[in-house]
Parts: sequence; structure tokens; C-alpha cells
Amino acid sequence: MIKEPSARVQAIKPSPTLAVSARATELAASGKDIIDLSVGEPDFDTPEHIKKAAIEALSQGMTKYTAVDGTPSLKQAIIRKFIRDNQLEYAPAEIIVSCGAKHSLFNLFAAVLNPGDEIIIPAPYWVSYPDIARLMGAIPVFINTDHTQQFKMTPAQLRNAITSRTRLVMLNSPSNPTGVAYSRTELEALADILLEFPDVLIATDDIYEHTLWQAQFCNILMSCPALRDRTIVINGVSKSYAMTGWRIGYAAGPTWIVGAMKKIQSQSTSNPTSIAQAAATAALNGDQTCISVMTMAYRARHDYIVTELGNIPGIVIQPCDGTFYTFPCIKEWIRGNKQIVDDVAFSEYLLNEAGLAVVPGSAFGAPGYIRISYATNMDKIQDAVKRMQTAVEKLQAAAVN
Ligand code: PMP
Ligand code: GLU
Repeated sequence: MIKEPSARVQAIKPSPTLAVSARATELAASGKDIIDLSVGEPDFDTPEHIKKAAIEALSQGMTKYTAVDGTPSLKQAIIRKFIRDNQLEYAPAEIIVSCGAKHSLFNLFAAVLNPGDEIIIPAPYWVSYPDIARLMGAIPVFINTDHTQQFKMTPAQLRNAITSRTRLVMLNSPSNPTGVAYSRTELEALADILLEFPDVLIATDDIYEHTLWQAQFCNILMSCPALRDRTIVINGVSKSYAMTGWRIGYAAGPTWIVGAMKKIQSQSTSNPTSIAQAAATAALNGDQTCISVMTMAYRARHDYIVTELGNIPGIVIQPCDGTFYTFPCIKEWIRGNKQIVDDVAFSEYLLNEAGLAVVPGSAFGAPGYIRISYATNMDKIQDAVKRMQTAVEKLQAAAVN
């Protein structure tokens, strides 16, 4: 028997963020003193009123299949959310609810990408975009950016990357892993380029929409309504409402795309969990103050960590607009060190020497950086900063001797 998975599976790797986090959990379980700054997951519990809605749904017997693409009440809540937050109007047939935004993206890529199609992905990127695209046989085309350009692609870079085979352009703002958000004006300039290429589809991953303090949220469609017939908006409740485990994400876009996603979903997962949908409905319809409470906490942690890590020689860190990540550049530091040759070795060193789990920038298509998630409490963050300072000083001393 040939014990070999399909070529499709062999073309991809497991999610590196989940892998680092699993390793951190394993080490902690074996008794090691580990601070996990790897996974991007709110440390807050899901707000009470949301949990209550799920419990009520359960007691009312909402334990059956629902419509494949989501319950009518959740779809209505999503429609209202788009009007309230984004001034975008959608009909129910233009909305689909899935098992997390990752699943929405998977369905989208499966729905529109043919083998050999190109998908433009600005780097640094969220780890799953290229591999989901590869699963579909599509070719990721990266646009490289760095901290000197605030990790934002320029209109010229976008134009240069588009070819006759480009099918989809992927946008994510505020960005995982950089924490940077495009301004409305910057999005307008990118939209001007996209208007020149009417066959190119656009996906905007807005999962960090509310985890933003430095600017007013705007996505490409809000900046340029003319792109409506080829833009798909991806969002979900994981980050905004601390609901990662509930697995509810959603997409909004043209009916031919949403319909295709629904067809795929009907042949794979069917509907997302019924009671999680009831919880998501309560999250979107209910009091929104829980969002600002969490966002302000992330901001305070951000301000602390950016200031403190910025004082470590050789580490270049810039303020973020939102999210709960920071993406310091360690290139200068690596250059001055013979033992630690790259971001992967640096991350390994932090894990083994300081008990700090971070994700190497290479996982996001940006070698020479590390991603630090500060979705953890302030005590741990303060401890982590101290550990990082000590670990770096120790290496520097070793390099000098
Ligand atoms: N997009 C981005 C940019 C993310 O960081 C995440 C985090 N997991 C997701 C999508 C997927 O979120 P979820 O599947 O939990 O809704
Ligand atoms: N988006 C989170 C992260 O980047 C969760 C892990 C994942 O789904 O990859 O850490």
C-alpha cells in the first residue's frame, strides 16, 4: 500500500502559528515555565451575554441542522452589522456564515481559484493565505514590504504584480502580523489600480476591524464602492468578541461567489454549529462596549511593549494601528551575532533560553522579524519583556567574549 497523502496535501505545511502554540502548550504541560506570545487569540473570556444566548439556544432545543449558509437571524444580524459599521448593504443571498473566518477563506479560495490562477498576497501575510491557495492549485504571488514602508504595498507594487493570470488580490487591514492598517486614502490609491483590471477579484479580511485604535476603520470597498461586484468581505466574531473557540466567521459578496461557497459548504461541513450561531447573533446585535474594553486593554499592552522592546539595541519596533501583534525587525541584531543566524534560530533561542514562545517572521513571508502576540495579561507581558532583555543581553555578552 502506498502510504502517501495526495499531492495537494504534500504541497502545504501545517499552520505555523498553531504549531508554535501547540509546542508552547506541550512544554508548559511538561513543567517548563513558558510565556506563550505565539498564538493570536484574545485572552479575555467571551462576554456573559453572549454565552447566555448560547445556553438559552441549547435549552430551547436549537440543536438541529440549520440552513447551510447560516440561520436567518444571524444573517440579519450580519446585514445590520455591515450597515452600522461599514455602510455596506447586503441581501441575505450575499451572506454566508462558516466555521470561522479561516473556513470562509477556504471556501472562497475553493470557489474562485482554478489550478494555475495567481493570487496576489502582500507580505508579511497571515500564514494561512498561501497554503489555502496552494491547496486549490493556485499560485501565490507575493508583494514584499518591510517596516521602512510601514509594511504597506504601494500602488506601483500592486500594478507590477498583476498579470493576465491574476484572479484574486488578498487584503488584510489591520494586518496580522504587522498590526498596521491602510488609511482610506491609501486604499483609494490601491482601488484606482484595481479599477483598471475588471477581471481581478478582491478579498478583504477584516477580522481585526474593531481591534484598531490609531485610525477609523476602512476597507477597500468602503473606499471605492465601484468595486462591489468583485469584492468579497471576510469577517468573524473570533477576535472582536473573544470567541475563537466558537468557530463563526462570515463572508459577504456577489451572489455568484457566495452561492459557490454555499455549494462547497453543503458538501463539506454543512451549517456551522447551531448554538454558536445563536451566540454570534447575540454578539452582533448586543451591547458593543465589550469590544472597546478589550481594544483599550490591547492598546495599553501595545504601548508598553513597543516602548520597552524599542530600548533593546538592534531591535527595531514600530507602533501599530491595532490588532494584538507587534512585528519587530531583528535583522540588525542578527547581523551582529554569529550564533543566531536567522529569525527561526532567534525564536528557538527565546523559547529554550527564556521560555518565550514567539513566531518567526519567516512563517509570515518576512524573514528577519518575529511576531509577538500580546493577547495575554500585563503581568505576563512585563515578565516577557524582562526575559527578552536578559536573553538578548546574555547573547550579546557571549558575542563580545
Ligand atoms: N484572518 C486573519 C488575518 C487571522 O488572524 C485569523 C486568526 N485566526 C483568521 C483570519 C481566522 O479567524 P477565525 O477562523 O478564528 O475566525
Ligand atoms: N490567527 C491566529 C494567529 O495568527 C490564530 C492561529 C491560526 O489560526 O493560524 O495566531
